[in-house]
Amino acid sequence: MNRRTFMGVAASAMLATTQKGWAQLAPEGGDDGLHVRFLGTGAADWNGRDERGEHRRLSSILVDGRILIDFTPTDEDMLPQGTKPEVIFYTHSHSDHYNASAALKLGLKKVYLSQTWYDRAVADFAKAAKELGVEPPLILPVCIGQQITLGDITLSPLPGNHATNYLLEQTLIYLIEKGTTRLLYATDTGGLPAVATRMIGIDAHKKGRPITGIIMEATMGMDHEVDFRLFTHSSVATVERTVRVLTETKRYVPRQGQAVYLTHMARTLHGTQKELDARLPAPLKAAYDGLEVVF
Ligand SMILES: [Zn+2]
Ligand SMILES: [Zn+2]
Repeated sequence: MNRRTFMGVAASAMLATTQKGWAQLAPEGGDDGLHVRFLGTGAADWNGRDERGEHRRLSSILVDGRILIDFTPTDEDMLPQGTKPEVIFYTHSHSDHYNASAALKLGLKKVYLSQTWYDRAVADFAKAAKELGVEPPLILPVCIGQQITLGDITLSPLPGNHATNYLLEQTLIYLIEKGTTRLLYATDTGGLPAVATRMIGIDAHKKGRPITGIIMEATMGMDHEVDFRLFTHSSVATVERTVRVLTETKRYVPRQGQAVYLTHMARTLHGTQKELDARLPAPLKAAYDGLEVVF
C-alpha cells in the first residue's frame, strides 16, 4: 500500500473535554477506543423537523473530537461547544455531504477528498473562500489504497458503490483504525464493493484482522426493500445480511455488546426512532443525531 503520513494534527484541549463523558464506555485493556459522535444521521430528503416530530440532520460524524467525515450547515448545532476540528474527509460531492462554505466557516485547515473530483473541489473552495473573505484550506487529493495517519488514527479511503452526476467521481467509504479498533464507515454505498472488502482484508482471502465496528448506511427502511435506489444505496436488509455473513465468518468481531449503527436513513423510508428501536433486528441499531459511541 502506498503510505503517506500527515502528522501534526495533535489532539487539542477540547478532546480532553469531550472524552470526559465517554470514559466509562471505553473498552477494556488500556485501549481507550475510537470515539464517534453522530452529528447527522439522515439522507438527503431531510429538511428540518418533519410532521411526526422527527429530526435527522444530514449524515456526518466527528471522530475523536477532531476529525470530521462530511459536514453540512445542518450539522453545525450538533458540534459540541468549543470543538474546533481542523480536518475533514469527504465521502463524495453530493450536497447532503459536502458544503465548502460550511467547512470554511468552521475554520477547517485540511480537506481530504477523492482525487477524482479534486479540481472541482479546489474551484468550489476558492469561490466560497472569496465570498467569505477567508483563506482557502489545503485540499489534499486521496487515492484508494492510501493510508492517512493523523496522530493515533489512520484513515483508509475505499471505494463506495455510489454515483454522482459527475460520472468520473469515485465515491469513498472509510476504514478508520486506532489501536485495536477497526471501524468501517460506509455511506453512501449500495452494499460493500468487492475492492473495498479486499483492501480491508475481509473478502475471500481474509488477509486482514477482523473489523471491530460497523457504521453503515440504510437509506431504505424495513418496509421499503423494493426501491430504485438499490444500485447506489443499502437497505436494512442489506446491512443485516452483510453483518450476518461477516459475523458468522469471523470477519467482523465486535467488542462485547457493540451494536452495528445505521445512518443515512431516508425520512420517507423509515419509521420513527422509537419504532426503529423497537423493530430493528439485533445487532442493528439506528443511530441518532448527538449519539456518542466508543468503538
Ligand atoms: Zn447521501
Ligand atoms: Zn450520495
